Amino acid sequence: MRSYSKIEVIGFDADDTLWVNETFFRDAEDEFCTLMVGYETENKARQELIKYEMQNLAIYGYGIKGFVLSMMECALELSNQNLNPEVSRRILEIGKEMLHKPVDLLDGVRETLEAVSKKHRVLLLTKGDLLDQERKLEKSGLSEFFHHVEVLSNKLPKNYKELLDHLSVDPATFLMIGNSLKSDILPVLELGGMAIHVPFHTTWDHEKVENPPTDKYQTLSRLDQVINLL
Ligand SMILES: [Mg+2]
Repeated sequence: MRSYSKIEVIGFDADDTLWVNETFFRDAEDEFCTLMVGYETENKARQELIKYEMQNLAIYGYGIKGFVLSMMECALELSNQNLNPEVSRRILEIGKEMLHKPVDLLDGVRETLEAVSKKHRVLLLTKGDLLDQERKLEKSGLSEFFHHVEVLSNKLPKNYKELLDHLSVDPATFLMIGNSLKSDILPVLELGGMAIHVPFHTTWDHEKVENPPTDKYQTLSRLDQVINLL
């Protein structure tokens, strides 16, 4: 049995840990492929879109706005720069619809934050568009539980290190909880912190990890299972 007795500060990921997110991207990708019928097969359109998303991450960062630009660039390319104006209009609209989606909390989230924030300093650490993450946090009604909120451009070990240094948090006393092995679990373990993985039912290809070191962190099926561990 792992002991979390040294833990003083707990970081929570937001998207697909506290609320639904990836599902909206999957739905948008599905619609994008449908819009590309006539230019390209569904499989090829999906592959190409993912390629543009990956290429553009370094310049646009994570979030919906970058995703819309990638859809547009990919559609222009697949249509040989001869995209139906109706399709471009719809692509922009898909993005705006995503930015207005309701915030759907996952099971047990509120209870978990309520319990955990009584005994620990609680941080919200997320990637994505600043404005969109602020909107979701506000709509979630969860702001009161967080001592600090940080929207990071990336979740590499150096991003965590800079933040923990800035907040004077010793990594040995830090626990990160999230759905992404690549962004929430592995970088924190690398710094000497602890991590708990709570997988979401779907994972973006970019966040997938081959052969993760499963003996170094705990995996839970629901977020509220952490209440009894801490
Ligand atoms: Mg996440």
